[in-house]
Amino acid sequence: MKYNKRFTTTAAVAATFLLAGGLAACGGGEGEGDGGGDGGGLEDSYVVATDTAFVPFEFEEDGEYVGFDIDIINEVADRVGFEIELETTNFDGMIPGLQTGTFDIAIAGMTITDERAEAVDFTSPYYKSGLRIAVPVDNEDITSVDDLEGLTIATRLGSTSADYIENNIEGATPNTYEQLDQAYLSVEGGGSDAVLYDAPNVEYYILTAGEDSLKVVGELLEAQNYGIAVSQGNEELVTAMNEALAAMIEDGTYAEIYTEWFGSEPEWLDELAELQAG
Ligand code: GLN
Repeated sequence: MKYNKRFTTTAAVAATFLLAGGLAACGGGEGEGDGGGDGGGLEDSYVVATDTAFVPFEFEEDGEYVGFDIDIINEVADRVGFEIELETTNFDGMIPGLQTGTFDIAIAGMTITDERAEAVDFTSPYYKSGLRIAVPVDNEDITSVDDLEGLTIATRLGSTSADYIENNIEGATPNTYEQLDQAYLSVEGGGSDAVLYDAPNVEYYILTAGEDSLKVVGELLEAQNYGIAVSQGNEELVTAMNEALAAMIEDGTYAEIYTEWFGSEPEWLDELAELQAG
């Protein structure tokens, strides 16, 4: 199934594919080729989707995609032994893309939720997160989530934060944007009262582009874990990636990558280690 799809999407992959087993190119049917079968077999390469921009997990710099997630997936791919064909997409297109088979894997600071787990498979958690509120630096009225009732809150389409606003903040109007810079701009420009989004993203934004305009208020809301999402029917790949993640946490590689992007080791490293499968 992966062969078939890739064959029609990129020429480079078609070339690899032809080298790998030209015969199947004619039929291209489901389950044909060496990786066919129920959830079995590892391929030589996978289409990996990432978010267009979710600092500091993935973003474009000098024409290249960089970030914590990019380093993590590169290391995982090295250890499991597959090539990555990286594609970027809007966050809300990621799960549909996995469901239709446009992508095999998605890494995008994606929160593991029960609802999503019905549509895609997740690896063990690779990052412990939560949600945060930010307001304009001169705002003295909003100091906690309770102050957000009835206000207009900027966030992103299809995110767990959009759900959080809808389910937990009474009378709030979510202003949902496809891209996060639009959400931040909306608060900076006065179109929204606050922004609510993933803590590491809000914190990173405030350390960088939003330094003079926004500040964090209140407590960390709602504990969340990020997982790497995989299209259903790839159990062997999920298992192999879980083993790689566990080994990276165990041997210090994970902490090294984390420190590169977040400045110091995570406080929750032991907790994360315990969450690994096996
Ligand atoms: N963690 C959030 C979610 O899963 C947002 C991730 C993102 O914007 N890339 O909904």
